[in-house]
Amino acid sequence: MSRRTESDTPRQPSQIAILRYLRVHGPAARIDIGTATGLSPATVTSLTADLMTQGLVQESQATVASGTPNANGTHGTTRGRPKVLLDLVPGAACVIGVKLTINLIEIALGNFKGEIERNTEHSIKTRDLTDRQLIDTLITLIDSFIKDNSDIITHPPVGISVAVQGVTDSNSGEIIWSPALRHRQIAITRPLSERYGGVVQMSNDANCIATAITQNTTLHGGGDFAVIMLGYGIGMGLVLNGNVYNGHFGTAAEFGHMKYQPDGPLCNCGRRGCLEAYIGDYAILRDALGLIDLADANSLHPSEEQMMDLVARARAGNEDLADLFRHAGKVLGYGIANLIALIGPKRIFITGSGARAYDLMAPELQRGLHLAQVPELHRGPEIVHLAWDKDLALQGAIGQSLLRHDENMFKAGTNT
Ligand SMILES: [Zn+2]
Repeated sequence: MSRRTESDTPRQPSQIAILRYLRVHGPAARIDIGTATGLSPATVTSLTADLMTQGLVQESQATVASGTPNANGTHGTTRGRPKVLLDLVPGAACVIGVKLTINLIEIALGNFKGEIERNTEHSIKTRDLTDRQLIDTLITLIDSFIKDNSDIITHPPVGISVAVQGVTDSNSGEIIWSPALRHRQIAITRPLSERYGGVVQMSNDANCIATAITQNTTLHGGGDFAVIMLGYGIGMGLVLNGNVYNGHFGTAAEFGHMKYQPDGPLCNCGRRGCLEAYIGDYAILRDALGLIDLADANSLHPSEEQMMDLVARARAGNEDLADLFRHAGKVLGYGIANLIALIGPKRIFITGSGARAYDLMAPELQRGLHLAQVPELHRGPEIVHLAWDKDLALQGAIGQSLLRHDENMFKAGTNT
């Protein structure tokens, strides 16, 4: 990468780039920051001095000796001498992440480095809530979370980011539809913004997970990627040119509602033949109920225990059940083939609670992918089974808030 000079480098975007680099890679030497961002050593020194004056960056107490890899796995260029590292100041700002899924609301506190410092879970019958009750519940929970953690929340949070299971409009801040709620089109960000000030964002949980992956050097590896979330429904987060892609109308990348079969089985969205109507937990349980007797099972509300039971029976030799997972894998393969034809991402991650059955789905997934792809486009992306980490969505929600906060701090003309 060619080095820019001080005169042709706007300071604000460069400061944001430094903050983002430190958040993703951890403590780093000035020279490594320069190499990664393409900024000259003089520019890095000047900009980081500004950031230190503003209380956003500090010199790390730790130093590394020659030959010791730093946080990004590279080695310093100064041999035989310790060097000073720069790091973000954890308490420079805090943000709140909220995750709304069926009958569960989680709240977490993130520091300026993007680390989760505290979190709580609340079992709440979310489907019983009206839209007003949902907002009131969120405000009550956030208020008590802030009060309970007043020992470390010394300044108002600079942002709140809500991760929602379902279809969301990131432009308007509305939940279009969520399996966690009975009501549709619920405005979330406006009332929370009125209550707390600062920037309130909302997106679906898959987009939050995509953000978390962009901030994880082990997983990301550069390039465009998609993350497919298997679970009650089927979600997708799509990252193009380093940014989560929401489309012009804020509702893009609804992979689960791409069609597999016209007039196929009923999807939870109200239409027929969507990928989700074959792959989602409710779809698999619905079909399983036609094959075996499952006491107390309700395909509208499959529990993790019920889904694990189906997986165990399939693995133990119930071929009818195994066929359901194989078929789900094939449908997923066809869906991924469409995605590859359209976007051509470098990597596709498959995760979510539904990835519990990935081993049962994978062979037919590969076969479906093979059958559906145009042979000349067979330079397929790497398909990565990512073990399910339920904290990843909250991690990404916090990351989204911090990305926005960085931009707001250094809007042109507001900070020099
Ligand atoms: Zn659908």
